[in-house]
Amino acid sequence: MKALKKIVVIGGGFGGFRAVYKLQDYDYHFEVTLIDKNLYSIEKPALPEVAIEGKSEDEVEIEIPPVLRDANTAWEEAEVVKIDPKNQIVYTNNNKEFEYDYLIVASGAIKAYDEIKGYEEYGYSVCNLKEAKKLYEKLKDFKGGNIVIGAAKSEFDTHENIPNLKAPCEGPVGEVAFMLQYKLNKEKIRNNISIFSPSEILFEDVGEKVREEVGEIFKKRAIEVYANKELVEIKKDSVIFSDGSTLKSDLTIVLPPYKAPEFIANSQLGDKKGFIYTNENMQHHLYKNIYAIGDVNAITQPKLGHLAILQADVAISSILNQEAIVNEPKEYKPEIFCIMNMGGIEATLIFSNVLYGGKYDIAWHSPIAKMMKLSFDTKYNYTQGHMPPDFIDNALEDIIKKLA
Ligand SMILES: Cc1cc2nc3c(=O)[nH]c(=O)nc-3n(C[C@H](O)[C@H](O)[C@H](O)COP(=O)(O)OP(=O)(O)OC[C@H]3O[C@@H](n4cnc5c(N)ncnc54)[C@H](O)[C@@H]3O)c2cc1C
Repeated sequence: MKALKKIVVIGGGFGGFRAVYKLQDYDYHFEVTLIDKNLYSIEKPALPEVAIEGKSEDEVEIEIPPVLRDANTAWEEAEVVKIDPKNQIVYTNNNKEFEYDYLIVASGAIKAYDEIKGYEEYGYSVCNLKEAKKLYEKLKDFKGGNIVIGAAKSEFDTHENIPNLKAPCEGPVGEVAFMLQYKLNKEKIRNNISIFSPSEILFEDVGEKVREEVGEIFKKRAIEVYANKELVEIKKDSVIFSDGSTLKSDLTIVLPPYKAPEFIANSQLGDKKGFIYTNENMQHHLYKNIYAIGDVNAITQPKLGHLAILQADVAISSILNQEAIVNEPKEYKPEIFCIMNMGGIEATLIFSNVLYGGKYDIAWHSPIAKMMKLSFDTKYNYTQGHMPPDFIDNALEDIIKKLA
């Protein structure tokens, strides 16, 4: 009998789960091990609801070991500290070693809160469970005033034909602004919301049409937008930018800079900023048996769960092809797809690929978009990180394109 090939997956987030579930269908070819430093996988797109609507932890956390029992995959709760790409070994902080034939790195990005001066004392955020819950507590006794929301600048290496965004995930900035305004208005708490972007233009990852339509909603709701603002410091009652300007703020909510996990630099697998640069099959440019998917990959711009899923599918199809199991190569066709919750029954679905030279640039503002977001979140959690079946995704995409 042919020996099973060893696949190690680092990280059980959107990308890692998708890869593990896809590999489940081929367990007679592969022996899969998932390593994650946390026992729970967090559904990050639902964190603004934890912070603003009081959604419970249970609804955004998925315990990893039961997922793997179903997927016939071994599990290790440990932090990866180094990879030896020549000898094909992963090292973890519990002094274990994992040999691999194929490695899939899906470890996401680090959110560097400590790089923002004043964050610890006066800043709030929604990028992990701890921060989302801290904001929820703060809002319980928020008496009203000026609110400033924005993304700090991230730095990425430059690669040909890859967009280099200063704010790698700006959707949550708009989402938090809309949701918070809805909540505070409903509770009759005075609020004056401003949002800022380090980029020349807010939402630089979509096209003119989406920007105009969402911009109109900001205008209608009197949410002030400031572009080209690089955050320098958060103070008790203001926010300071690199051009010397300030905004008064009684509550400052930020998305921190994105950094690459340290073990990639320790393993000399990263680009100048430590992210893993791959080809369009998600293979490392030097080591073709190392794949990177999701936020950790340098070609992932913006850093979106939707792209992590597309990349996982491409990586798995490439491994199946290399092993001569299935020869149906999947092409990487990046696109922005997300739903911005706006509080109440409102949401805007955004589907755009102009950043990658495509022609779609759609913003669909509708209660149906809200229903789609709620049902996706519930299903993702209930089915332990399974995405909707491909035929539903394809049908949805067709409908959205017709809307255009
Ligand atoms: C507030 C917010 C809202 C968002 N909304 C949307 C949205 O609406 N739509 C969308 O498409 N995207 C959205 N995103 C982006 C999306 O959440 C990320 O792009 C996505 O989670 C990336 O998936 P990933 O698999 O690359 O990494 P992650 O989901 O971050 O998972 C990485 C995993 O790796 C583990 N890990 C990290 N380092 C190590 C290590 N050294 N050893 C072992 N394990 C490790 C972590 O514990 C984690 O479980 C949002 C992000 C935020 C913060």
